[in-house]
Amino acid sequence: MSKAPNVDPERIIEKEHVIQEGMDISGHWNRMFEQRVIWDYTPELLEKVTDVEGAESFGWCYQCAQCIPVCPVDIVGDYGPRKIFRRVQTGQDLFESSDTWQCTTCMNCLRVCPKEVDMIQIMPAIRQEAVLQGNVPAELQEVFQKTVDYGNPLGESPKKRAAWTKKAGCDVPLMKEKKKADYLWFVECYPSYHPRGIDASVALARVLNHLSVDYGILGADEKCSCDSQRLAGEQGLFEECAEHNIKQFKRYKAKKVLVTDPHALNAFRHEYPKLGGKFFETIHYTTFLQDRMEELGMTHELGVKVTFHDPCYLGRHNGEYEAPRNMLKSIPGVDLTEMGRCRENSYCCGGGGGGMWLDGHMSDHVAMRLSEQRVIEAIETGADVLAVCCPLEVSRFEDAVKSTDNEGKLVVKDIIELVVESMGPEE
Ligand code: SF4
Ligand code: SF4
Repeated sequence: MSKAPNVDPERIIEKEHVIQEGMDISGHWNRMFEQRVIWDYTPELLEKVTDVEGAESFGWCYQCAQCIPVCPVDIVGDYGPRKIFRRVQTGQDLFESSDTWQCTTCMNCLRVCPKEVDMIQIMPAIRQEAVLQGNVPAELQEVFQKTVDYGNPLGESPKKRAAWTKKAGCDVPLMKEKKKADYLWFVECYPSYHPRGIDASVALARVLNHLSVDYGILGADEKCSCDSQRLAGEQGLFEECAEHNIKQFKRYKAKKVLVTDPHALNAFRHEYPKLGGKFFETIHYTTFLQDRMEELGMTHELGVKVTFHDPCYLGRHNGEYEAPRNMLKSIPGVDLTEMGRCRENSYCCGGGGGGMWLDGHMSDHVAMRLSEQRVIEAIETGADVLAVCCPLEVSRFEDAVKSTDNEGKLVVKDIIELVVESMGPEE
């Protein structure tokens, strides 16, 4: 009797001679199996994951593989919920594996998963345990420490948080002087400190002033919204920053919080209410401006072909796909073209869920950065401009344009920069 792989020979039933309706079905042709025993299955490691609060749905996976073709990390590597599940099932300890850090929490797998295996809950829960055990990639730990020390992941001085306003060329009012405003503009870290983020902040300040919007910023009283640190496993740090920001919001009267960063939008809409910050409505700048484009006096024809990258935390996580497109379509001389992966199925820049600070770690596991893959997709459309509306994306994509040797072929701009270009020089 021949041995079938992974099946106990004792459990194989086979008759040496059988003739059925004149047909010879002797030997292995009539082989039957008792219930299979799979030797390589390791329930302990799976239970170690599903026992963690928030990670229970990991155990619901029934290996249908719907998630794999949509996972942006798998496109450039070897990843996705099904693969992680199978690796854990066959002996991988997720708490000690690089798999814990590769997910960008882009949510594309959850969109298609029939069992609602929720990586957006699973990953932060597992990472939180890994953080508690001190098992964190060094580059991420450094960012956590900078956020603790300075209130921002860039390690910049908190006192200089509003220094960018000097470049605005217009008045950018502080809430501590105004006390109340229609809109409290939460600027966030990269738009406050990163040179390319500052470019977008300067542009938005000019637009808000042009529209005579009643707004104010927190300046040095603002700390990182900390959503990405939360998703990367630092729940304690997130709560500390959230409590600080909620306290600031409570000091002033504002009808809405206006954000530049979809990650702040996500935190304020879905996470801050759990900590007592349920008293304000939050709006992304594209949602706010889409209906006011005609008031901007955009007379300068840009004459460019533009493709747009949907930020995961504006699109899939918060359902806003139209506002950025409506803005782009209103700009004179913009020819909008879509990439194959867009809207609900948009690719990911690789910056979400802590990925912004894990490029070194990721380089051991992917053939190219996610941002590089996306730049190649943008180039394929023949676009001159890759338009974005998340502050993590400008620098990621600009680096990717250089590293894929596409300098001169594609420029990366925040939508608000294109708006201001079309408004022409200030009078
Ligand atoms: S789509 Fe869901 S159920 Fe199917 S393999 Fe992926 S995680 Fe498992
Ligand atoms: S959330 Fe995104 S990156 Fe993470 S496993 Fe799902 S599809 Fe892949």
